[in-house]
Amino acid sequence: MEIKDSKILVTGGTGLVGSAIKKISPTYDYNFIFVSSKDADLTKYNETYSLFKKHEPDFVIHLAACVGGLFKNMNQKVDMFEINNLINFNVVKISHEFKVKKLICCLSTCIFPDKTTYPIDETMLHNGPPHSSNDAYAYAKRMLEVHCKAYQEQYNDNFICVIPTNIYGPHDNYSLDDGHVIPALTHRCYLAKQNNKPFRVLGSGTPLRQFIYSEDLAQLFMWTLENYNGKESLILSVGEKNEVPIKKVATEIAKSFNYEHMMEFDSSFSDGQYKKTADNTKLMNFIKEYNFIDINEGIKRSVEWFKDNFDSCRK
Ligand code: NAP
Ligand code: GDP
Repeated sequence: MEIKDSKILVTGGTGLVGSAIKKISPTYDYNFIFVSSKDADLTKYNETYSLFKKHEPDFVIHLAACVGGLFKNMNQKVDMFEINNLINFNVVKISHEFKVKKLICCLSTCIFPDKTTYPIDETMLHNGPPHSSNDAYAYAKRMLEVHCKAYQEQYNDNFICVIPTNIYGPHDNYSLDDGHVIPALTHRCYLAKQNNKPFRVLGSGTPLRQFIYSEDLAQLFMWTLENYNGKESLILSVGEKNEVPIKKVATEIAKSFNYEHMMEFDSSFSDGQYKKTADNTKLMNFIKEYNFIDINEGIKRSVEWFKDNFDSCRK
């Protein structure tokens, strides 16, 4: 079979990461199929099965998930647990039934143990309970890894997991309540400037995070599909030295809006996990060099995208 004839099904194809893969897809010689919940509700076995029957994919990049920032993880634990378990169960099981040649599933560095040594690496996923703020999401994602491993061991399926750090970029979810920190603060700063009010950052601003720009992550997904032959999970991240405090991110967002003078921190809100510093050595040993988009530049681009797409973006 020619590579150009092979089909890659991308679940969650309309989300932050799916949109980034879509953007770079014309540079690859595959037949990409990007799907969202409008094509099939993946929590339903029959709809998921029909989707696979319709497309008969060779490869699956599985991104679809019930996703959100710290406050969605804290306030919607049942959804984070049930929806993710259902989606993942169906996608993994049906990928096996349709003899998918490679399935790449997506975990997150926020599902690692809370009490741990740093930096976190791929071997440490199950070494202790996750942070209580996102335990429901974390355990659902950990079971995705267990499910993939089981298919590797019992059927020799090429089902693997990648583990990104915090992601940001165009097509994010800009919900004030449910979004991750960069899109939520982008929306907050936009409204603050419109109304000439303080730009309120939730929590103390001190927690540390590693942010990867969605288009960099999209390239790394494609690299994993084409080149990574390991069975173990792989962290996809910028390096440890690129870890930044939330305050830095808020400041860059405020700069992009030219609205730096009225930033304030509301410490009545949770900080979540202080840090989850991840080690990208395994990835870098494979790819040797990668020019990650700098956080200042990435935030500038993301804020511009938000301004240009304010009416239609998710919020
Ligand atoms: P996102 O922007 O929220 O997009 C979620 C996607 O999943 C959308 O395309 C959505 O389709 C689809 N989806 C949700 N429920 C579905 C259902 N029941 N049936 C079918 N499709 C459904 O998410 P993202 O930020 O791109 O995340 C992609 C992956 O990266 C996820 O697995 C997430 O856990 C992981 N991750 C994200 C981050 C981050 O910072 N964002 C960090 C680490 C890992 P609709 O548009 O139709 O709802
Ligand atoms: P996390 O990395 O999984 O914790 O998820 P987030 O992307 O939601 O980042 C959470 C961190 O950003 C915490 O330290 C929050 O206190 C801080 N933060 C500041 N303002 C906001 C906001 O408006 N929304 C969110 N989600 N987090 C915020």
